[in-house]
Parts: sequence; structure tokens; C-alpha cells
Amino acid sequence: MIGTGILKGMAVTLRNFAGSYFEKERLTTVQYPEERSPLPENYRNFPFLIYDTEDAAAGLRCVACKICEKECPPQCIYIVKSEDKKPDYMGKPQFYPAVFDIDISVCMSCQICVEVCPFEAIKMDKEFELSKRERFDNLLFRREQLSKSNDYYHKIHPVEAAAVDKNLADAAAAAEAKKKAAAEAAAKAAAAKTAAAKTTPA
Ligand code: SF4
Ligand code: SF4
Repeated sequence: MIGTGILKGMAVTLRNFAGSYFEKERLTTVQYPEERSPLPENYRNFPFLIYDTEDAAAGLRCVACKICEKECPPQCIYIVKSEDKKPDYMGKPQFYPAVFDIDISVCMSCQICVEVCPFEAIKMDKEFELSKRERFDNLLFRREQLSKSNDYYHKIHPVEAAAVDKNLADAAAAAEAKKKAAAEAAAKAAAAKTAAAKTTPA
């Protein structure tokens, strides 16, 4: 019958409206901004840069490879690579972004920058109260403003951040094992060469 769907919908609304006076879980609104609903793990807004340790500049994971800048569909990332290098989280000397800007008035929150980053250096933030009076300067986020700690990442995306930490620890362990194996092979080769030199008649 025409209109049955509307009646069913209204019955659900009525049931929830009346039920919300007796059952707390039926309440779907909160008194924002005094109260806030918890955001789900996979909620995302704009990207931010992750740093390890306490020092935002020294601990920045980004190595200024510019992959995200190239892949960003609306081209709202601007990076200038440093002239010098600093150690990354595994102690390897790497470039870093002397400039890293994101124009969040253009960003469409697609997360492609996060997907393409090979260094787990850029992730999606959950901050959404970002309205500003000025269109230009205030919505252009600079490296300093974009840099947030790994602890912050764990706070906003606990499941994802734990998986990323595990991947990085596994990669560091694999690199360490490879280095150790290469050193052992080199020592073995050197010992074999010395032994061969001793047994060869002059
Ligand atoms: S989320 Fe998408 S649009 Fe925004 S900076 Fe990343 S790639 Fe660009
Ligand atoms: S955020 Fe990632 S992809 Fe972008 S420049 Fe830095 S390391 Fe490269």
C-alpha cells in the first residue's frame, strides 16, 4: 500500500522518541559543545605528520620523498626538501621536509597521501573544529602545526597505531637481522681468505 513505508518510519521515530525518556541507549543526540559523542576509530578529517620521541623537528618520520605531493589529487600539499640530513627512527641519515604545507581549504580528506606514504609518516587526524574567519593564511597548515606525536596518533586511532608500530618494529628487526647476517658473512669470508693465504706455499 502506498505510504506504508512512511508510516513504518514514523513508528520507528515515535518509538525512539518515547523510548529515549526511559532507555539511555535510545538517546542519539548530545548537548554539543558541552558534550561530545566519541568518534569511531576510522573517522578521518585532514592529514597530520607523525613524529617519534619528544622532539617534533628531530623525530619527524617524513623524509620529504614527495610521493604524497605528487599523488594528492587536488595538489594541496607543498614540500621543500632539506639540504642536510638527520637520522630517521632506525638511525639512518635521511632528508626531512624544510617546508611541508597542506592547504586544508582544498584537501578533500581522500587519504591517498596516507596510503602512498612508504614511511608511515602521514596519517588522518580527527580534529574537525577548524572553522576560521580568514580563507587563506589560516587554512594553510604549516609543518609545525601539522606535526603531532605518535602518542597523539595512539590516542585517536588506537587499533591502527598499534598495527603501524608493529610493522615498524618488524621492519627494524628485519633490517637489523640483515645487517648482522651481512657482517657475519663478511667476517666468514675474511677468515676464509686468511686461512687460504696461510695454506698457499710462498
Ligand atoms: S587527504 Fe587527499 S586531498 Fe587531502 S592532502 Fe591527502 S591526498 Fe591530498
Ligand atoms: S609524508 Fe610520506 S610520502 Fe609524503 S613526503 Fe613525507 S615520507 Fe614522503
